[in-house]
Amino acid sequence: MTSAPSIMESRRLGLCLVISAPSGAGKSTLVGSLRRQFPHFAYSVSCTTREPRGSEKDGVHYHFISREEFVSRRDSGRFAEWAEVHGNLYGTPKGPVQKHLTAGRDVLFDIDVQGALQLKGVFPQGLFVFILPPSREELERRLRGRGTDTAEVIARRLGNALGELRQAVHFDYLIVNGDLDLAADELRAVYLAGRARTENRPDMLSALLAQWGA
Ligand code: ADP
Ligand code: 5GP
Repeated sequence: MTSAPSIMESRRLGLCLVISAPSGAGKSTLVGSLRRQFPHFAYSVSCTTREPRGSEKDGVHYHFISREEFVSRRDSGRFAEWAEVHGNLYGTPKGPVQKHLTAGRDVLFDIDVQGALQLKGVFPQGLFVFILPPSREELERRLRGRGTDTAEVIARRLGNALGELRQAVHFDYLIVNGDLDLAADELRAVYLAGRARTENRPDMLSALLAQWGA
């Protein structure tokens, strides 16, 4: 006799967790912490025309491509969203995301505000999180402290932060990255609650009801 399927094995839909923030707010730090806690996450590796920074690896942190190549991929509809951010082009390749979601894998996106709002149109059921810096002063301190960007790049990113913060109201969740542990806890809570949404567990109830023969 075959036993009824475990409810934990029932089909789960992959969910999109989309995280945006002004540069320097600590998004990469928080995304890194979430990925360590949930290694099953699929990460959407973006294409960009910017130069690799520090120890960044092609195909891992980004696909580093020329502007010409980017425009050609964009014009043939290969991006789920794209945007020009701080003078460089960034885009989310469509194919891998669709593959992960269909396979029930959750996908994490680290993208800018313009891109996140475009994705809201594509994946309205996604979780859209905006990371806030605790203050302007602290944002500037973090940008300088990171030590990876020139003074000119830092000034541009700080200037762009205002426009980005004005868009934060369109996101589902606001997390202040003051105390890192607290911010990481809040992000984890948002993800776990999203995962437990009824719509993301379409077969769970029927798998349980089947144990009553229903
Ligand atoms: P982003 O990806 O948003 O541009 P990073 O994650 O690179 O930002 O963080 C910018 C800098 O701020 C890094 O040097 C990082 O170590 C530091 N940082 C991140 N979160 C915090 C925090 N909660 N408190 C203090 N420094 C932080
Ligand atoms: P950085 O150059 O610091 O890695 O990233 C600059 C900004 O571009 C960040 O806000 C980052 O989230 C965003 N970004 C990275 N990949 C993408 C993408 O595929 N699409 C969009 N719209 N923004 C992206």
